[in-house]
Parts: sequence; C-alpha cells; structure tokens
Amino acid sequence: MTRFLPALFLVAAWSLAAQTRPLDIYWIDVEGGAATLIVSPTGESLLIDTGWTVGDRDAKRIYAATQEAGLKRIDHLLISHFHADHVGGLAALSKMIPIGRFFDHGDAIEPQNQQWLDSYKAASAGKRTIVKPGDAIPVKGVRTLVVSSDERVLATAINGGGPNPLCTDAEQKAPVAPENQRTVGVLLTYGKFKFLDLIDLDWEKEMELACPVNKLGQVTLYQSSRHGSLDGAGAPAFLGAIRPQVVVVNNGPRKGLGQVDNTVKSLTPSGKRTAPYEKNSYQRLAKQPGIEDIWQQHLSLLDPDPSHNTGENMIANLEDTAECKGHWIKASVQQSGKFSVTNSRNGFSKTYLAR
Ligand SMILES: [Zn+2]
Repeated sequence: MTRFLPALFLVAAWSLAAQTRPLDIYWIDVEGGAATLIVSPTGESLLIDTGWTVGDRDAKRIYAATQEAGLKRIDHLLISHFHADHVGGLAALSKMIPIGRFFDHGDAIEPQNQQWLDSYKAASAGKRTIVKPGDAIPVKGVRTLVVSSDERVLATAINGGGPNPLCTDAEQKAPVAPENQRTVGVLLTYGKFKFLDLIDLDWEKEMELACPVNKLGQVTLYQSSRHGSLDGAGAPAFLGAIRPQVVVVNNGPRKGLGQVDNTVKSLTPSGKRTAPYEKNSYQRLAKQPGIEDIWQQHLSLLDPDPSHNTGENMIANLEDTAECKGHWIKASVQQSGKFSVTNSRNGFSKTYLAR
C-alpha cells in the first residue's frame, strides 16, 4: 500500500492548489487602448485586445504582464474589433509569445480599417474562430460567453436577466461607426463573480441588450465602455440594469474618461419626455446605485477635476504618456466570490464580496 501514498499525496496537493488558485484579471496600461489579460483558476489564459502599435510599447507591456502571470503562452486571444487601439499591438506581440486560438467578429470591415483586419489575418492564419452571440470562448475553469458580435446581440436573457423598468422614457441614440457596433463583448462567470466587458459597444446596442428585457442580469465587475468616455455609450437604462459593484476604466491620460460626449445624436422623438441623466461619464458611473468603487488606468489630464476622477490611490498612472511607467490594475477572484483589486503603482488594494 505504501507505494501508492506518494501518488495520493500528489493528487491531494494538486486539488488543494486547484482550489486555492484565483482567477486573475490584469488591466494592462496601453494608454487609452485596451488589453485585458485573464488567467483562469486552471491556469488557462485569455487576452482581450492588444493595445496600440506605437513602437512595440504595448506588445512589450502585455508580454511583461504574461511573465508576471507566469505564462508560457496565451491560450486564447479575442480581438474585440479591428481598430488601431485594440489590435495595433498584435503583430509585435505574436513574435514575443505563442498564441493558441484567435477569436473575432468576422470579415465585415470598412476600407479605413482593412489594414487591421489584414494584420490580424496574418497573425491568426489557421487558428481563427469567428464568434457569434451565445458562443462560448473555451477557457477552462471559467464560463466566457459572447454577448455581442458583428452588430448582433444575445437573443434571450442570461444570468438571471428579466424585464427592465428603466426602459420607460429611456433615451435612444443613433448608431455609431459600424466597427464599434461589431464589437465582440463577453460576460465571464466564475461562481458569483461576473465580469462584463463590452469594450467599445455603443448606446444603441446597449439598449438592445438591456431593453425592454435586461439580457445580461447584474454583474460584479464592469470594464467601462469606450475607455470610460461613455462617448455614445453608457445608456442609463443599461448601466442601471447591469448594476455593477466595481468598475475598471481603461482610459489613457488624454483618451476616454474626461472626453466630452457630444458626437452622437439623440433619437428622442419630438415631444417625448426622457428621464434626465448625468452627462459627465465619471459621475454617471459613480452615481449608479450599488456601485462600491471605480478604479482608473490613468488620471484624466483632459479633466483632472477630482470630482471627475476616482481617488488617487485607485488610479494606476498619474503621468502623461511619454513619462508613463504603465502600471496595471489587477483583480484576484476567489471561488467564494471574495475578490481584491490592486493598483501596481502603490500596492493599494481593496477586497470585495461578489453579491
Ligand atoms: Zn477603443
């Protein structure tokens, strides 16, 4: 019998490790682009977007985060849509670390974005999967569901979603540029913890997801859309329905949060009253019922008013782009729903319990 003991011990040690390893999410600073690295409790990784080209700055920052996370490869890469701030770093990154499978919204594109689709096709040859709403991205240990892709959204409610009373008198806006409307958005679930990332999806699609039925249910952590500017996004009927506990804003010093949203026309039929809402994007997020904290990638240098930014402890970078050290924000999530968010600039950390 004794000869079986080491094997039993190993199984016990492995299952203990499997239980205690958290789900980790890194918001890598790509100066107002997007790059979110997810490492599931099984050790499988999913990167959502690859930042800008800008030399190889963002690819190097993403690579550094993979090394911090102890990764030998990126198992799954989702490119949310073909804009420079989301796919620009891919060509360089794909030379730094192996990438397993690639996920995207498909080939529909405008001429001005063709170069980004071409660079993606070159990097993903033979390893590409086009996703539609309802598809899963197969990351072991978590459930990652596609909720929007190629101008379509989920057909039916998930995650306990249902009729949304906030839709009455809710304002509608005109659709934005098609590439943002094609964004692949995902809802990642790990026990009670729900992470919603709709990237650059616009107000019109948010309303499709939230009205008259909230198809997404309530979420724990929300990566604010449009880099926190909520420019043509952040519909109050949607934000009030998903009711995030914690928000992470992937803004740059002069992009996203702090930009003024005045580009997208309201489609309110004349004479119809709509519920008033907060126009400043930080305040609109901060005033959501149930919100506990907002974390920012950058202090907004466009609008440094303290009432338009979160507390300095919860801002990863305070400088302009040229001096920026590129500190990240990280969430570590336990199976119990307890999670902590940490600012790598100062080590400041807060712990929450997913509702
Ligand atoms: Zn963007």
